[in-house]
Amino acid sequence: MKCDLSTKNFEKSRHYLAGGVSSSLRSSMKPVPLFATSGKGSRLRDVDGNEYVDYLLAYGPLILGHCHPQLTEDLKSQMKKGYTYGLQHAGEIELAKLLVDIIPSAERVTFSGSGTEAVMLALRIAKSFTKKTKIVRFQGHYHGWSDSIFTSFPTADMNNNYSSGGKLTVPGTSGQSEKSLEDIIVLPWNNTEVLEETLYARRNEIAAVITEPVMCNSGCILPKEGYLERMRELTEELGIILIFDEVITGFRLGLGGAQGRFNIKPDLTTMGKAIAGGIPLSAVGGRKDIMALIEEGKVNHLGTLNGNPIAVAAAISTINILSAQHGAVFDRMERTALDLVEGLRNLLEKHQIKGVVNQIGPVFHLMFTNCDVVTSYDEFMTSDSKAYQTFAEKMLSEGVLIRPNGLWYISTEHSNQDVKNTLEAADRAIASLV
Ligand code: PLP
Repeated sequence: MKCDLSTKNFEKSRHYLAGGVSSSLRSSMKPVPLFATSGKGSRLRDVDGNEYVDYLLAYGPLILGHCHPQLTEDLKSQMKKGYTYGLQHAGEIELAKLLVDIIPSAERVTFSGSGTEAVMLALRIAKSFTKKTKIVRFQGHYHGWSDSIFTSFPTADMNNNYSSGGKLTVPGTSGQSEKSLEDIIVLPWNNTEVLEETLYARRNEIAAVITEPVMCNSGCILPKEGYLERMRELTEELGIILIFDEVITGFRLGLGGAQGRFNIKPDLTTMGKAIAGGIPLSAVGGRKDIMALIEEGKVNHLGTLNGNPIAVAAAISTINILSAQHGAVFDRMERTALDLVEGLRNLLEKHQIKGVVNQIGPVFHLMFTNCDVVTSYDEFMTSDSKAYQTFAEKMLSEGVLIRPNGLWYISTEHSNQDVKNTLEAADRAIASLV
């Protein structure tokens, strides 16, 4: 694989852009952080002229693939009318109504720019509503990089020279004060006993439990049967706000996200990534009485570009495209994921490599591990991230772009031919690991 120009660009970039990349996650890509030039459908091109079947999908947002014709048209049309107003506009009402209609627990919504901001706001609302301060979060979940919650998320694909010393509730980065995490309680996920014990013991302190409804950021691990239901029951009984962080699962596990799929209503939901098909937008949705804190002016929510008309137009367009034919695209994306997952499992067997593939809807995670199943964070941590990085690098040289460590995302644009090419590439990549 030729990557001379990406290498040159990276070198040049480092003279001006700190670290040469705009998000720490991107620096770990091997052989070098790639520089993209264009994308179309399921394919992405880089400066060296390489074309990849893209399963990174910009870490999730590109649910309609690159440059979806309808989304592009809708964006152009909004561009001609203005990029931002600093005033309210009709699109915000339309999008808010769409979200209230399709997200089962959302009676009111509000917009911001990134998943991190949405989580910050949800935590603030929960603390204000309950007049309590502690937040329960889970080991291996990721809720963005804000100081108040960035901890307990070891990721192998970050150029991270900062060590937490293996402790649970410690800053995730240098420059983050220990005090910023004083309100955080980290628990193991999928463990009902620990959850019950903690919530009963500290009910008077705990404002909220925040969870990824599927542990997408560490192994794509599904909730054990009854776990989320019990979490919902307990939080309701004890006056604790339940927040589903649906930044990944929203608009991916169906239009209604994980809460629609599992039929559980949290009090607050954070959304981002796929919501606007690749344009920056995030949202918090929730119960009317809780979201009323914003209306009453008790909780302040600010942001110069909140409800930006371009982002709003992108979200309306994306949701309308996903909703067409009663959401048939979700079945198609899931079918594509299942074909890939089955193919990858067969290849592991063929090459006698121990591994696990966890999947739900159009996302999955392949891990090289000696465990037979990965249903907990501890099992996830047994996976060999170095071997996976080698596999990812080999896949890249075969024309398949996957995250150096983490989820594979399927878009509406991935085809049977893409699946075929990908499995042929994976056959050679896995063989090279033996
Ligand atoms: N929450 C979850 C579950 C995420 O996976 C992420 C990002 O990966 C975030 C929040 C933060 O979103 P953003 O990167 O848009 O700030």
